[in-house]
Amino acid sequence: MGKRKKSSRKPGPSRQKVPLDTTFTCLFCNHDKSVTVRLDKKAGVAQLVCRVCDQRFQSKATHLTEAVDIYSEWIDAADAAQQEERVARRPTASSSRPAPIPASAESDDE
Ligand SMILES: [Zn+2]
Repeated sequence: MGKRKKSSRKPGPSRQKVPLDTTFTCLFCNHDKSVTVRLDKKAGVAQLVCRVCDQRFQSKATHLTEAVDIYSEWIDAADAAQQEERVARRPTASSSRPAPIPASAESDDE
């Protein structure tokens, strides 16, 4: 019987606690990493701000919320706002059609 090979334990990758990315590209000014998300989980508030163009967004934060969640919420909100604007700008359809007047002779002469 040969020697038992020493069970080669993998020296697992030293998992450094890398802080999650909390800086993102701004939707409005397109600056890279200008958007910062701050999560205040105790207060249940998340704040997003672009330090270049000063865009702001606020949302709720839970213990599950990550910065990237707020960022995507912001994108959705900005998207929705743009669409709303488009709808608001749509020329109002001219629905002011004159009501049809019944031409029936209702004069009942006696
Ligand atoms: Zn910006």
